[in-house]
Parts: sequence; C-alpha cells; structure tokens
Amino acid sequence: MERKNAWLQYTEEEKEAIHKLGEQYKDFLNKGKTERECVKEAIVLAEKNGYRDLTEIRKQGYQVKAGDKIYAQCMGKALALFHIGREPMENGLNILGAHIDSPRLDIKQNPLYEDTEMALLDTHYYGGVKKYQWVALPLALHGVVAKKDGTVQEIVIGEDPADPVVGITDLLIHLAGDQLDKKARTVIEGENLDILIGSQPLVLKEQPSGISNGYSAGNKEEDAEAKKNGKDKVVSYILQILKDRYGMEEEDFLSAEIEAVPAGPARDFGLDCSMIMGYGHDDRICAYTSLSAMLESQGLRKTGVCLLVDKEEVGSMGATGMQSRFFENTLAELMDLAGQYSELALRRALAASRMLSSDVSAAYDPNFSNVFEKKNTAYFGRGMVFNKYTGARGKSGSNDASAEYMAALRKIMDDNQIAWQTAELGKVDQGGGGTIAYITANYGMEVIDSGIAVLNMHAPWEIGSKADIYEAAKGYAAFLREA
Ligand code: MN
Ligand code: MN
Repeated sequence: MERKNAWLQYTEEEKEAIHKLGEQYKDFLNKGKTERECVKEAIVLAEKNGYRDLTEIRKQGYQVKAGDKIYAQCMGKALALFHIGREPMENGLNILGAHIDSPRLDIKQNPLYEDTEMALLDTHYYGGVKKYQWVALPLALHGVVAKKDGTVQEIVIGEDPADPVVGITDLLIHLAGDQLDKKARTVIEGENLDILIGSQPLVLKEQPSGISNGYSAGNKEEDAEAKKNGKDKVVSYILQILKDRYGMEEEDFLSAEIEAVPAGPARDFGLDCSMIMGYGHDDRICAYTSLSAMLESQGLRKTGVCLLVDKEEVGSMGATGMQSRFFENTLAELMDLAGQYSELALRRALAASRMLSSDVSAAYDPNFSNVFEKKNTAYFGRGMVFNKYTGARGKSGSNDASAEYMAALRKIMDDNQIAWQTAELGKVDQGGGGTIAYITANYGMEVIDSGIAVLNMHAPWEIGSKADIYEAAKGYAAFLREA
C-alpha cells in the first residue's frame, strides 16, 4: 500500500516540465497575494486562453454551445470558469474547486494611531494563525480603497524591491523573561498585532508663499491651529504620504480592504530546488493547478468547471464564499444561454456532478512525527492527495466521499499514470480541519477532498513539493477529461 516517490520515475523532459510549471506557479503566487489579486490574475490567464465574460455574452444574447469557454466572477473575489462539454449539462459537470483566500492580517476599519511618535496600524487577523509567527518579519500591504466618488484605488506596498516594508515588532530576548513563560497562544496577543508604519513627524516649515507641506501655515494663529489638529504628528506625515500617493484620506480606511501579508516573492526551496516556499500555498497551490488544468483542457465530454472561492479560512460564509448561491445562479444563467435551463434540469445537473474539492493536506514532518499516523499521512513527492474524509473528533464535520466514487477516481488516476496518495489530517483526536466539500455535497453530488500536501501550513511561508504540484495538475486534467 506504500506509494512510491514520484521523482524516481521522471524522465529529463518531465523534470523540465515540472520546473517550468513551478516557475508559472511562483509567478501566480507573486501576482496573487489576496483573493482579489488571484481573481484578477486568473481572469488574465483565462482570457488569454479564450475564456469570455458571462455578463458580456449575456448582453450579446450569445447562444452557448459545446467547446465554449466562459467565466463569471463575484465581487472580484470569487471566480467560476466553465468549459462547455458535448453532453447536456443535465448529465452532470466535472468540478474542480479550491479557495483563494489565505490567512493574513486585515487592517481594521479605524486603524491608524500614534504612540510615542510612532505610527501604527491596528489589525484583526484572518483565519487560523499562530500569532507569534507574524512578528519580526517584513510585511507588505495589499488591497483596495473604495472612495465615496465610486473609484477604487488598488494598493500594493512592499513588493517592489525599491518599496519600503512594514511589520510587527517583537520583544527583545533580553527583556522576554515573562513573555517566554507564557503559553504559545498568548505569547503574542491578537490585539497586539499592530503594524509599525512610520516614525517621522510632519514638519511645518514656513515657505515664502505661506504654504508648507501642502498645509496652510501663513501666520502664527494658523500654525497653532494646525498643531492642535495634530499636523506635527507622525500619523500626519503618513496621511500626507497616503494622500500624495493614493489620493486617500484617513476616512477612506472606513471603506478599504487592506491585507498585511508576508513581503517578497515565492522562491525555490531546498538545495535541489525540489520545493517551493511561498505565502498562501493554502490554497493557491490547488487553485493554480486546478486553473491550469482547466485552461489547457480541450474538447471535454462533460462540462468542466473550475471554482475559485473566497472565505474558506473563516467558514465559507458571505457572497463570495462557497456557501453563497453564486455558483448555482451562474450555472442557471449558463444553462439558460445554452437553451438547457429549467429548474429541474439545474437540480439534475448539480446532483449528477462530480467534484474534486481541493485543499492543502498536512505533509508528514519528521520534526513533528508524533502528530501523524504514518500509514495514513501525505508525504512530499508521492503525488496528489485524496482525503476520503476530513473532520475532527470522530470525523465530525466531514464530507465522507463514497467508496464507489473513490474507486472511480482510483481508476482515472491509475489509467493516466498519476502519482497519488491517500491521507488523513493527522492522528485520530490530534486535531483536524474542514474544507468546502460538505457544502457542494449538499446538492447530492459526489465530492471528495483532494489536493496537495504542504509543510508549515498557515505559517507566513509555506512549503510545497514541485512533484506534487505537477502530479496534481495532471490529475485535475485527467479528472476533467474522464470523470
Ligand atoms: Mn485551505
Ligand atoms: Mn487553511
């Protein structure tokens, strides 16, 4: 039952293809550090591959037919791609699903404050994080500022090597006696994940014109008034920078979505370059491989779907999470444009579908062998992972895929020489986790948890295996063709 290491069987051409896919994936990771950026980049790639926007073709009254490639997005944070198959959609779809949100620190709505001439941004962490891992490392700010005039300003600070970075300070070891006696979960408190962003006060200098740093400072009275308003503060200088660069006022934080993420690009990991270290493998490693399999697919029998959804890390709620009606509504529109819609046909299509709900698995870690059960654990280099069930404490909260579906998938993977393995998330009663599988399973479709194993899951920098990325992309393509 033990699975072989996939690297053992690769030809030179395959190794080349593996590293090429690795480069493309790193590029995607670097361009997509937020769910919005992932959707944007995925649309760029989709359009290059002949995909068209559903809202556009609807306006044109286009008649959808087999072979058409169509995408639809929800609020710029969730995306559904469809490759129309030869069979009517009522016969079921082959669906690849993954999530594109990742653990991070979200900037609060009223975030900016000054303490002892240092400017800081208050955050609320998103998803499950070990808070102590997010201090003393370079962070970048990514997001959007929506202004009252209806414009939306995109922000990325800290990725260009010429950019400054920001970050959260940690206590020096010399004074950390009390801190080190604390439990790891309270060593750094959530409310103290405040990001240092500046230390230089705005200086009011009188200019001949009476204008200084853009502020009126014509006479002593006005100057005193300016100081009372805090114009000599560090936050004032930060606000001036934000205004100059992004035309942003402090009040605009109220309608912004800015995420603090680890700064810098994904890189090869290991002296043999067999792995990739990057921010947000969970779950862009499955999102990208699903997307790339989808984009290269040709002439599908059943309609292929790739769903990239938001909010998985916080329960899949909201309009852009898997629990929303976005996918169902989009499918209804599409079936209508294909002349295949009725309420019953839609329900049949959903119930007859098959899905790979893809998310990261825990890779075996020799440093923490005690939390794994070795026979039922995912290993780097042994290929794509299938988790018949996930859950915790007696499989609670799990979607348990049917044995018959698992058998059908075994056949597809083996027929196509895909390296694959099965796994649970750790030892029984050691913990556990959930994904989006149980949500689409509510339609009565066949769904299984699958994906790619990672080390350092939910840490600022996670690690994945290039062989597993390659095998998963091949596995997803085989699923779209043959499921
Ligand atoms: Mn995940
Ligand atoms: Mn996760």
